[in-house]
Amino acid sequence: MGLRFVSYTISSKDVPGRWSLIAFLPGCNFRCRHCHNWRLVTGEKGYIFEREVLQEATQNPVIDALVLSGGEPTVHNPDKLRAFVERVKSRNSQLKVRIDTNGYNPQVMERLLDVVDGFAVDIKSPLSKRDLYEYTTGTKGLDLERIRESVSIANGLPLTIYRTPRYPWLSEEDVEEIRDFTDSLSSPWFLNEFVKVPSCPFNT
Ligand code: SF4
Repeated sequence: MGLRFVSYTISSKDVPGRWSLIAFLPGCNFRCRHCHNWRLVTGEKGYIFEREVLQEATQNPVIDALVLSGGEPTVHNPDKLRAFVERVKSRNSQLKVRIDTNGYNPQVMERLLDVVDGFAVDIKSPLSKRDLYEYTTGTKGLDLERIRESVSIANGLPLTIYRTPRYPWLSEEDVEEIRDFTDSLSSPWFLNEFVKVPSCPFNT
């Protein structure tokens, strides 16, 4: 059986300059405060089969990029992810594919590196501050070297971007540290507006 998605939507904002199909996969290895997609993380929604996403991505003439998002795509079977991307590309070789990830599974990214056009990698706090990263992601015992490795794997691919929500608990110094770190990378970094999600059960 192939991948099972939760839903998809069309966006002109996610991939700069392109109309993209954003396809959402369930599950995540983090429990971030104010997660916008917490219902995907906890699996409260139903499923659609990958053939439906495949058909929409490859046959809708408006779409010129496919984004695999979530939840966290890299918690899924890497062979299934790879096979799905290959299937998409074999039907429409012009379609660009990006994976959105929290960067905690670099080995899965490595497995996908030669079939995708880039990654959107979250940098949720300075990589020198494990306590702050664990607070932000609601996850203990993090190895932040894994995020560094993911940043490095993604760097320089045509669609790669790095993203940080402007969490209110990050200080100016924290933001500057992330800015300094990403200044040394060739792919762009975006500091995004923080939007509260009061209903998120991971806020406590
Ligand atoms: S990484 Fe965090 S924000 Fe992203 S889906 Fe998982 S819990 Fe939500």
